[in-house]
Amino acid sequence: MRDLSRRYLPAGDLREGGTALAKIVAEREDPFLVLISTILSQRTRDEKTEIASRRLFAKYDTPQSIADADAADLERLIKPVGFYRQKAVQIQKVSRALLDRHGGSVPRTYEELMELPQVGPKTANCVLVYGYGEPRIPTDTHVHRVSNRLGLVRTKSPEQTEQRLMRTVPKDYWLHINELFIRFGKDICRPIGPRCPECSFTKFCRHYPRTKWAKAVRRHPRAERAHPPRGGTSGHEGRGGHVDDALSVLDRSDRTSCPRFRHRAP
Ligand code: SF4
Repeated sequence: MRDLSRRYLPAGDLREGGTALAKIVAEREDPFLVLISTILSQRTRDEKTEIASRRLFAKYDTPQSIADADAADLERLIKPVGFYRQKAVQIQKVSRALLDRHGGSVPRTYEELMELPQVGPKTANCVLVYGYGEPRIPTDTHVHRVSNRLGLVRTKSPEQTEQRLMRTVPKDYWLHINELFIRFGKDICRPIGPRCPECSFTKFCRHYPRTKWAKAVRRHPRAERAHPPRGGTSGHEGRGGHVDDALSVLDRSDRTSCPRFRHRAP
């Protein structure tokens, strides 16, 4: 992997992403579907979120229809996700709130979204990014882990990571960070057993020196010369500019103008 953008969003269009939200938006650009899918995704694998979302939206795809639906039927449809009973209640609550407060529309400001039941920072930001193409940084455990490993931030929680990323990362990158880091975090930089030999960022990764790969190289330096990691050799000592190095993973040159999920070419 040379670059996350080139690998996961070659055309610079979020709708071509591989996460459940990107796939749902690719089929229908509806912020309400993004909101409901994001609630379903909490503490659930992306694959299960996609399955449950598709089952649900095939029958109920508006605030009114979900608000009026039989709770047992909602539970049955979203059963693939964890905590499906609680989530059936949650999606009915948020649907009713949209009908009562916003005429059935999904608001498009962070503050208004945060006032809805079951909506926290990650969900609000997902709606803004995937639903409205607004530059924000939804931060889940993948984005938190990858950002810390790459040296973009040093934080203890996704909430802290979101705040630090918004201060550190130029706004031109915000729209795609979630999609790129989630894909990278699932494919390569896994929580346990990251696939460092397939990674391009070993040179500046803060976590790499602690991995079994780096330890093996320290024990057997010749092994690295024979099979170097894609990021080059592991000379971590004395290296500065982590943030600049880490930002280089979001290759500006690959991002093109996209009518809905727009971003200015830097
Ligand atoms: S070198 Fe390993 S730990 Fe570091 S970013 Fe790459 S895959 Fe993740």
